[in-house]
Amino acid sequence: MFDFKDQRVIVTGGTRGIGAGITRAFLAAGAHVTATYTSNAAAAEAFRAECDVGERLALAAFDVSDVDAVDAFYAGLSAPLQVLVNNAGIRKDQIVGMLPAADWRRVMEVNLDGTFYMSKGAVKAMSRQRYGRIVNITSPSGELGFPGQANYAASKAGQVAMARSLAKEVARRNITVNCVSPGFIDTELLADLSEEHKKGFLGMVPMQRFGTPSEVAHAVLFLASKEASYITGSTVHVTGGI
Ligand code: NDP
Repeated sequence: MFDFKDQRVIVTGGTRGIGAGITRAFLAAGAHVTATYTSNAAAAEAFRAECDVGERLALAAFDVSDVDAVDAFYAGLSAPLQVLVNNAGIRKDQIVGMLPAADWRRVMEVNLDGTFYMSKGAVKAMSRQRYGRIVNITSPSGELGFPGQANYAASKAGQVAMARSLAKEVARRNITVNCVSPGFIDTELLADLSEEHKKGFLGMVPMQRFGTPSEVAHAVLFLASKEASYITGSTVHVTGGI
């Protein structure tokens, strides 16, 4: 659909689930992609073998919530950077009364602090060439709130608020910052939900099915394309109508 030939794209958490779908779509559109992950090297290597695109796919293992690791990653990035997708994310669901402070903190660190550290590095790289696209993967939870997701919802709402502010800071440098909000997408992130819980979620979806990573990826590629040049500070919902 879009041409990303000669563009360097970073997809955090780009080796599994939605991130893997986004990486695949950018590779199909001709991009050079660095897909990051944190600990599941076996899944990352299996994904690299499956993609089979040679040096157009690079892997990088680090924790996006570790500011020193993020800085070291950007210090090692030699080619110009056109696109960053902040996709890495975790859930640690529990009702507030039972939620350990460490689980509140960890979700904020990965989902929100990680988005900040990665965006800061990207903006520095993109400002030099006066072009860039940043896309955050947020969630309807950040707008609607779901029971047991106070930490996750706060982190996802934070990503949207950060995108809207950053978009205004960098607009004059031809850098856009947007969000994609996927609904329920069939990935390992939902693997711990009971069948009853999944049925409950399905009942909330007017299209009566979960989405796929590639359906999310299409929206990401659009916002990351040169063609989406006048869209910034926005959120595209890919939710089957939630
Ligand atoms: P998965 O659990 O399937 O994949 C998560 C990816 O993020 C993995 O590659 C994982 O690496 C990486 N990751 C996790 N923690 C870190 C970290 N600290 N540093 C770097 N990378 C990390 O998740 P999904 O694909 O389902 O979700 C992707 C994004 O989409 C998340 O931000 C999530 O909140 C959002 N989302 C998902 C929805 C869904 O229904 N699935 C709905 C709405 C939003 P590793 O392989 O090493 O573990």
